[in-house]
Amino acid sequence: MADGPGPQLRPEAGLTFPPGCAYIGSQFVPMSEAKISVLDWGFLRSDATYDVVHVWKGRFFRLDVHIERFLNGIAKLRMELPFGPERLQAILAECVRRAELNDAYVEMILTRGTSPTFSRDPRDAINTFIAFAIPFGSVANADQMTRGVNLHVSSIPRIGPDSVDPTVKNYHWLDLVAGLYEAYDAGAENVLLVDGDGNLAEGPGFNVFAVNDDQVTTPDRGVLEGVTRRTALELLAELQVKAKTAPLSIAALKAADEVFITSTAGGVMPVGRIDGVAPSADAPGPLTQRLTERYWAKHTDPVWSVGVDELPTLDDWRRDD
Ligand SMILES: *Cc1c(COP(=O)(O)O)cnc(C)c1O
Repeated sequence: MADGPGPQLRPEAGLTFPPGCAYIGSQFVPMSEAKISVLDWGFLRSDATYDVVHVWKGRFFRLDVHIERFLNGIAKLRMELPFGPERLQAILAECVRRAELNDAYVEMILTRGTSPTFSRDPRDAINTFIAFAIPFGSVANADQMTRGVNLHVSSIPRIGPDSVDPTVKNYHWLDLVAGLYEAYDAGAENVLLVDGDGNLAEGPGFNVFAVNDDQVTTPDRGVLEGVTRRTALELLAELQVKAKTAPLSIAALKAADEVFITSTAGGVMPVGRIDGVAPSADAPGPLTQRLTERYWAKHTDPVWSVGVDELPTLDDWRRDD
């Protein structure tokens, strides 16, 4: 093609890729080369499920729980992973090794894929598996970790559990993104969405917890059952703090002694303000601090974590197929 204006990649447009390694089309490639077809139903219809696990100091945290959730989502969407869990582990470990990362954000994705005839019947599609490892990322930045994230409660209801099963981790994020813009317009940094009854649901990639009179509550329905949420509930039990999953009203959230959010991207993170109200004086509350310490301490415990180099390599995955 001759020179001139055309659909070229312009470096000056700021299109850069993080360092890291992806597995796509059965090959390991740098992030900048990890691309899918525009005809993939994952892209055209958000028809996909995924999971994110992190690696901290060279160890995967609760990889078994993340894989279990990923496989459950795949089964619920009536898709099929083209290999077993042992090979999945080997691929994820290989992405981290090749990326040469000690602390990593590791994503696994299965999309509906494309059908060879471009048929509209999802049964004709060949599912596409993608994985990647990039540097560890957090919902809350360093500043927010010390003073707490400034949240806005949106009146936008999270997509209902009767429409899309929230326990299948998915890319239906237009409600969450609309909520983020609402939060920015209100001068906040992040957002919480409500459920159909006006109680709290979740934010973009995180669950929420409120501490009222030494009793901890996190919403029980209409949310992705986060691995960090589950971990927080288990660690609160270890700390002998009462915790329950139950409806959480906006009034109870704003009256809380402490509020924190949880995600694989960042762990346990303090909330500083909710629509201007500061539950714990613009700092992590005492329970949030104890829980955060315990959460990171578990990352070197072999019961909760596994070293990247302890996992099967691609040379021995065949045992499981
Ligand atoms: C991933 C995610 C979370 C947090 O789950 P973790 O397993 O703790 O990372 C919460 N809500 C939504 C919508 C998510 O996609």
